[in-house]
Amino acid sequence: MEEWKLKTESPEETMQLAEKLAEIVQPGDVITLEGDLGAGKTSFTKGFAKGLGVKRVVNSPTFTIIKEYKGRIPLYHMDVYRMEDEMEDLGLEEYFYGEGVSVIEWPSMIPNQLPEDCLAISLFHLGETSREITVQTSGVRSLELLKELRYE
Ligand code: ADP
Ligand code: MG
Repeated sequence: MEEWKLKTESPEETMQLAEKLAEIVQPGDVITLEGDLGAGKTSFTKGFAKGLGVKRVVNSPTFTIIKEYKGRIPLYHMDVYRMEDEMEDLGLEEYFYGEGVSVIEWPSMIPNQLPEDCLAISLFHLGETSREITVQTSGVRSLELLKELRYE
């Protein structure tokens, strides 16, 4: 497992990092986003969608748990915050092993439904416009992604 910590000083900077990541992801990649409300998970996803060439506006999927967007490859945006029962089987595998890339907000709500190898990103509120971002790997593929993201 490898870890990379960095700081961003504006929402744009966070979105740029996400955009860079979006340029290197492939079908089947899974990115998880942790952090308190307002930390920047959805902002990150917006930048990520931009990097995938998604034209539609990305919002937090409030009433649906999963929203799908068309881009270079499909984006599956999941916000599992409102999951009532963590044991409820959402059938997420279909997405994880599908044609697109999955971005999951609040992965801690569904610890047993996550694939082993994901790129785990946490955002921590340091100040009004500064955030500490931690990127963690948990397998061969996420390590590959981190290396590309970091040295690009
Ligand atoms: P979450 O989805 O984690 O609840 P949002 O992305 O919806 O968070 O909201 C984050 C808010 O913080 C946005 O209003 C964004 O403009 C602001 N913000 C300020 N600085 C940053 C930064 N460095 N990175 C990300 N967002 C930031
Ligand atoms: Mg959000």
